[in-house]
Amino acid sequence: MLLGRMMNFPLTVTHFLRRAKDYFPGSEIVSRATDKSLHRSTYSAFYGRACRLANALKKLGVKQGDRVATLCWNHQPHLEAYFGVPAMGAVVHTLNLRLHPSEIGYIANHAEDKVVIVDRSLLPLFEKFAETVRSIEKVIVVGDPHSQAPVSGAYLDYETLLAAEPDTFDFPNLDENAAAMICYTSGTTGNPKGVVYSHRSTVLHALVASLPDELGVRQADTVLPVVPMFHAAAWGLPYMAVGAGAKIVFPGPHLDPASLLDLMAAEKATIAGGVPTIWIGILALLDKDPKKWDLSSIRAMVIGGSAAPATMIEGFQTRHGLEVLHAWGMTETNPLGTVARVKHHLTKLSAEDQLRVRATQGYAAPFVEVRHTDDSGNVLPWNGESMGELEVRGPWVAASYFGGEGSDKFTADGWFKTGDVVTIDKEGYVKITDRAKDVIKSGGEWISSVALENALMSHPAVLEAAVFAAKHAKWDERPVAAIVLKEGQTATKEDLTTHIESRFAKFWLPEDYVFLNQIPRTSTGKFLKSKLRDEHGEILLKK
Ligand code: ADP
Repeated sequence: MLLGRMMNFPLTVTHFLRRAKDYFPGSEIVSRATDKSLHRSTYSAFYGRACRLANALKKLGVKQGDRVATLCWNHQPHLEAYFGVPAMGAVVHTLNLRLHPSEIGYIANHAEDKVVIVDRSLLPLFEKFAETVRSIEKVIVVGDPHSQAPVSGAYLDYETLLAAEPDTFDFPNLDENAAAMICYTSGTTGNPKGVVYSHRSTVLHALVASLPDELGVRQADTVLPVVPMFHAAAWGLPYMAVGAGAKIVFPGPHLDPASLLDLMAAEKATIAGGVPTIWIGILALLDKDPKKWDLSSIRAMVIGGSAAPATMIEGFQTRHGLEVLHAWGMTETNPLGTVARVKHHLTKLSAEDQLRVRATQGYAAPFVEVRHTDDSGNVLPWNGESMGELEVRGPWVAASYFGGEGSDKFTADGWFKTGDVVTIDKEGYVKITDRAKDVIKSGGEWISSVALENALMSHPAVLEAAVFAAKHAKWDERPVAAIVLKEGQTATKEDLTTHIESRFAKFWLPEDYVFLNQIPRTSTGKFLKSKLRDEHGEILLKK
């Protein structure tokens, strides 16, 4: 073998941080606080503060490989931890503030967090589990305009710490395979498991996800991560934005549709990313008051985390001229895996067929490889029909979990089993029909809850629909649809069935409906079908 003669230059987050200072010192970072006031800063100030944080952590005894946890909303200090912590060689561990305190405690213990950076407004939450975490040595509190009083006792104040430190840091030369961030899966399937992103995976993911055919992040963009920074690194958007030198807008804790629309319009966001439940609310509000917000700056609204219904994609486009970009990913994939861009030769298709393509989960990003397999592990053909479990591999796909749990998710020949049931068509477009744990098996036949939900959400009176498996005496399981109607609208069970019946075999149609005010959500804003099953899973047995 003749080896290449190129430099073995490490791919580290530190490079992005230096680049931010050298090339884009004036790029803006806007954070909205709990009182909705906007705080403006620049990359130049951000760089200095990330250095101050690194100095402060070093003084507190943080060493390479130590875990520094965050329990924070999306804001600039969180970004400082995203960069300052890995660049000094430590590992930033983003705690999910929507989990039950005992679960957060479990996760912090598991990761052996040494220092925790916590929002002042989240201290009451932190105090519910703090005592259970043996490894925590220091707690740093990020201020809140609502309660300015200095923190006391054992707590350290973030701003006081930073103010005492120099705004430069002698960043170490790191191995690109060193850990940069730990993110836990939300544990909807067993105990939460830790995914350890490396500098290399984070950088490669950010570079590839920024490509024009992926999320397409450029210097001229204004990126608004609605997706929390504790959810799969906010999909890497902070790393992409800083890598590109783009303006970043952080929404803080106000994630209701009106507050988000206000911020998107005021700061002229060009790319925003979040889960469908967020966008369903936004679309409903825009439909009610289409003229109130000027969203002409928006280039792409990235939607992922669960399936974006085709009617929502279409509604944004035809009624409001807004482009939805549907993407699939997982905590285990850093997280981007596939993006539903319409390939050039498919732009010849009718608008309806193109919409069908855009509502798939898309085709794999460069360096992500996909296949799907049947129950015996046989690899299935890409024919758009054969259904099997999606498996992925690539440089930003987990090779194992922290602590070695969940080894059954990794195949002997080097693939990660996603737990998603999919078809893949001849163009490589992946279509998720269900998560394995949400699959509905009726009389031995398999029914796609995602397909039913998409159809139900195309009814004009339906705001949200989640289809789950209810127990059935004869058929074992039957689909039941939980429905949230739009404000002031009505629809009967019969109306809903009539609306969708031409699209499905008769046995696919929901056996019953439950009308709710809200569909229960997971900690990352997805429909929580296990709760629907717990609460309504036996309604058919009682009939
Ligand atoms: P959790 O859902 O357990 O909180 P993740 O956020 O890592 O953890 O979720 C990954 C899962 O989310 C995927 O396996 C898939 O089931 C689902 N998902 C992500 N994006 C999409 C999408 N665009 N369409 C359908 N499902 C999606």
